[in-house]
Amino acid sequence: MRDWVTACIGLGANLGDASAALRAATHSIDTLNEVRLTRRSSLYGSSPVDSSGPDYVNAVVQVQTRLTAPQLLAALQRIELQAGRERPFLNAPRTLDLDLLLFGDARICSPALVVPHPRMAERAFVLRPLAELAPDRVSAEQLSRVAGQSVWCLGPL
Ligand code: ADP
Ligand code: MG
Repeated sequence: MRDWVTACIGLGANLGDASAALRAATHSIDTLNEVRLTRRSSLYGSSPVDSSGPDYVNAVVQVQTRLTAPQLLAALQRIELQAGRERPFLNAPRTLDLDLLLFGDARICSPALVVPHPRMAERAFVLRPLAELAPDRVSAEQLSRVAGQSVWCLGPL
């Protein structure tokens, strides 16, 4: 039997009731086989970085899992798809983004999966919630590099 691994997952949404989408996704993650939700950050608001549109809602959750990293990513993509299918319009923008940020201390670089997530170090909306639940995984220097990005706490996930 595989050992349990601690993984961190970034959640984001900016359409419809984004907070509700993140809460529903958190519940879906918690009910996956071989996955146990262990910690959740607060909900954070952030302005779109490279696009326009409504503000984003972001959060990070920590899980214990006996899945492999590719299996966990596939499970997260199924949850994204389920959330997308609830959207009323064809080709509607995505309502839920789930990113595998960290998978234990694994370093993975395959065509479909890069861990640690390659863009997390540039994103205050990832680092701030991650620092809330796993302060040992985010340095003060990393936080100071993204201090210019506006991110605000919205309350509990
Ligand atoms: P982003 O999250 O960067 O805004 P997408 O969610 O659209 O963009 O990107 C999804 C693609 O990124 C997927 O095809 C997936 O295979 C790939 N990918 C690579 N590494 C990761 C990771 N650590 N977490 C989530 N998706 C990843
Ligand atoms: Mg993604």
